[in-house]
Amino acid sequence: SVRICLFTRDLRLTDNPVLHAASAAGREEVLPVFVNDPAVRAAGFAAPNRLAFLHDSLADLDAGLRACGSRLVVRTGRTADAVARLVGETGASEVHLAADHSAFAHAREEAVRAAAEPLGARVVAHEAVVTAVAPGAAVPTGSDHYAVFTPYLRRWSRTALRRPLPPPQNLRTPAKPHSEPLPTRPDADQLSPSLAPGGETEARRAMRSWLDHHLDGYDDGHDALADDRTSRLSPALHFGCLSPTELVHHARTAGTPGAAAFERQLAWRDFHHQVLAARPDAARGDYRSRHDQWRDSPAELRAWQQGRTGYPLVDAGMRQLRQEGWMHNRARLVTASFLCKTLGIDWREGARHFLSLLVDGDIANNQLNWQWVAGTGTDTRPNRVLNPVAQAKRYDADGTYIRRWVPELSALTAPAVHEPWKLPAALRAELGYPEPLVALDAGRDRFLSGRGRG
Ligand code: FAD
Repeated sequence: SVRICLFTRDLRLTDNPVLHAASAAGREEVLPVFVNDPAVRAAGFAAPNRLAFLHDSLADLDAGLRACGSRLVVRTGRTADAVARLVGETGASEVHLAADHSAFAHAREEAVRAAAEPLGARVVAHEAVVTAVAPGAAVPTGSDHYAVFTPYLRRWSRTALRRPLPPPQNLRTPAKPHSEPLPTRPDADQLSPSLAPGGETEARRAMRSWLDHHLDGYDDGHDALADDRTSRLSPALHFGCLSPTELVHHARTAGTPGAAAFERQLAWRDFHHQVLAARPDAARGDYRSRHDQWRDSPAELRAWQQGRTGYPLVDAGMRQLRQEGWMHNRARLVTASFLCKTLGIDWREGARHFLSLLVDGDIANNQLNWQWVAGTGTDTRPNRVLNPVAQAKRYDADGTYIRRWVPELSALTAPAVHEPWKLPAALRAELGYPEPLVALDAGRDRFLSGRGRG
């Protein structure tokens, strides 16, 4: 009989328990399926940068499946309807998919069950595909999730991982069900100009190279903005072109301090997923302490989005985001803190803008990191305000990152590149770079006094 392998956020052949289960018994035929569901677009998840990466990833997945004697069947429509139709067309007895933990993913899985089971197809959702440790597999006594990272990390580190699975060699797939073409790749003019290509093949090449050359230096190097020494594997992890379980195994095998620091970041990823699984409403509502003193300032929001706040590190980060569809983590922290805590603008505005551009844009990691920075989330120091000038001097001491992304400042060196407003007025006028949008101290004081009242 036929088993459907419904690909969602697990667009890979290597270490994919969903594909493995759907194709495990030699006599069965597997039908690899991807459903291009308009509900994803309607829910605002389908930004052009992510659609391009998705397109590349599906093309690569189809090529990989074909090399094993199979192919990817693409259908458009509501996921549950498309699956039910394929069950009808093939008489499939099972549908396998990855368990995923946003409200959208929960509803989708329920709908697939409701549509497929009455037709006689058993639906199996596999845990620990999207994350290394499944939400719910590491929980404190008396609660359904950890609200603080350090105890979660302790527990996460002790939780057994499955062994990574090899990619399949041969797959048998029924010839009949037709496939629609892949979802179209958006035109270049809708995309960030320097977008990284998607797909498992490219992700594995990037992973190997990064593990070989940079993993060991990650503990010292990951905050250095100009060195850009982080893995940049987040888009591949978001679309499941790489398995988080496999990455944790590589880190543990290496066993260096750099590898331990990298593993800790992968635990952060799982941490946010387990918060969202238990509290799906945290995608929109404040997770812990409510803050309702947000300011409405469309002009300041626009200046932040365009990288024209007059604070060089903030502007560099925002311009990197627009150019690459990716931003260094240190710059994400600084730009987010600036929006929420210096301008006093609601984290939801920032999260929405990030989601419109980030290739790794992800409900769990984006919304919950934003809440962490805004002080409404899991941060244990919610009143901390990052100073973008001090952060720039510390993490981009000679200004290389700023000069890379803010050409108006490319002729300046430190310290002027960090505080161009201190230059003589005539020189400033020549730069064509904006004056600071607000005074840092005034913004911070306004935020903190707002919290006192809120
Ligand atoms: P590396 O430093 O190489 O880390 C390895 C992996 O660990 C990353 O690929 C990522 O999967 C995970 N990771 C690292 N840091 C974090 C973290 N703080 N939280 C969760 N996972 C982490 N990450 C996303 O994947 N999607 C998002 O939408 C997202 N939005 C963010 C928004 C804000 C305001 C902030 C402060 C952070 C956000 N992050 C998000 C987390 C982090 O910035 C990125 O994961 C990281 O910059 C990706 O680059 P990298 O792959 O080189 O990371």
